[in-house]
Amino acid sequence: MKTLVINCGSSSLKYQLIDMSTEECMVQGLVERIGIEGSVLTQKVEGKDKYVINTEIKNHKDAIKLVLEALIDPVHGVIKSMDEISAVGHRVVHGGEKYSDSVLINDKVLQSIKDCIVLAPLHNPPNIIGIEACKELMPNTPMVAVFDTAFHQTMPKHSYICPLPYDLYEKYGIRKYGFHGTSHKYVSNKVAEVMGKDLKDLKIVTCHLGNGCSLAAVKNGKSVDTSMGFTPLAGVMMGTRSGSIDPSVISFLIEQHGYTIEEVDELLNKKSGVLGISGVSSDFRDVLAAGEAGNERAKLALEIFYYKVRTQIAAYAGAMGGIDVIVFTAGIGENSSITRKEILKGLEFFGLELNEENNEIRGKIQEISTEDSRVKVYVVPTNEELMIARDTAKLVK
Ligand code: AMP
Repeated sequence: MKTLVINCGSSSLKYQLIDMSTEECMVQGLVERIGIEGSVLTQKVEGKDKYVINTEIKNHKDAIKLVLEALIDPVHGVIKSMDEISAVGHRVVHGGEKYSDSVLINDKVLQSIKDCIVLAPLHNPPNIIGIEACKELMPNTPMVAVFDTAFHQTMPKHSYICPLPYDLYEKYGIRKYGFHGTSHKYVSNKVAEVMGKDLKDLKIVTCHLGNGCSLAAVKNGKSVDTSMGFTPLAGVMMGTRSGSIDPSVISFLIEQHGYTIEEVDELLNKKSGVLGISGVSSDFRDVLAAGEAGNERAKLALEIFYYKVRTQIAAYAGAMGGIDVIVFTAGIGENSSITRKEILKGLEFFGLELNEENNEIRGKIQEISTEDSRVKVYVVPTNEELMIARDTAKLVK
């Protein structure tokens, strides 16, 4: 069974074709600048040259059409016909309270995803466009929606209810939803497998540290808390997002300094975080390099980042009554040994000891704590696409 995984953004589309008999990724690709001048499709197949198509791509339907053509291309493709694709798994950012698991897409489900647009106005619309385009081009192929929010639907009420008047939750659905759920689920499952332990016996803190950053407290295989909230703006500091701050800053900027709500929104989402403090970049590699070169603001940005993640990990020890394992994943978590080391500094009182040599690993599964360390620490590369493909295959079967 071959499963196509689609992740649609507003002007981009990532895809992978996964052979579920081996769980191998047969091909991965990216369509960029959809609807913008300079559209391009780039496809990579192990052992073949990179396939690049520069052509006008007016909309997501055109993009998916091109993806299907690239997949069956006699030279650069990997399948003979579209019929070889048994199912399509779509990443959908927001499933609201309705979906605590992935679901086969039908008209009713599609409508529910549309109903969640108010909660994710930037993310759900492109996801829906992707689903509708596939439906038109492959009407007989079953499709599954895999939600970023679903894994966190197990959080208890005391984790997800905001301390606001309760009727705001009832009337408007204002609560913590959490995101990156597919990644947190994948790495918590994987670390239990690698440790040879039952997920049900573990208290895990998963740290997804990439452009967006979130942590989750995963107890007995279930998410009991996570750092992102009503939107992906909350929690620890990120590349360009502030993470959680005193909400009064917003009214202060508007009332005292004439900011518009749009300006504040842009400030918090696009100009804050590591970029805002360092003034250098939102890319962690650039900020690490600037810090090493002596840039004081870059150093400060890094120190704040380490502190926010460290204190969030410690908070989750309180949430779960202890920690057995800490997992690092995503761009920064998988690749930056210095970041992992600095985050863990000060957590030795948990009975945590870092194996500095093993910590030099990049992008591979590796235990990075010492043999004697009571709290284990692992690097586990995330694989959201595989998780989407697994859920899709399971539901379609
Ligand atoms: P992601 O959103 O998971 O793709 O992660 C992107 C982030 O990972 C960017 O901030 C990158 O700078 C960061 N990143 C990737 N490789 C490294 C590395 N070797 N060291 C530090 N940060 C890295």
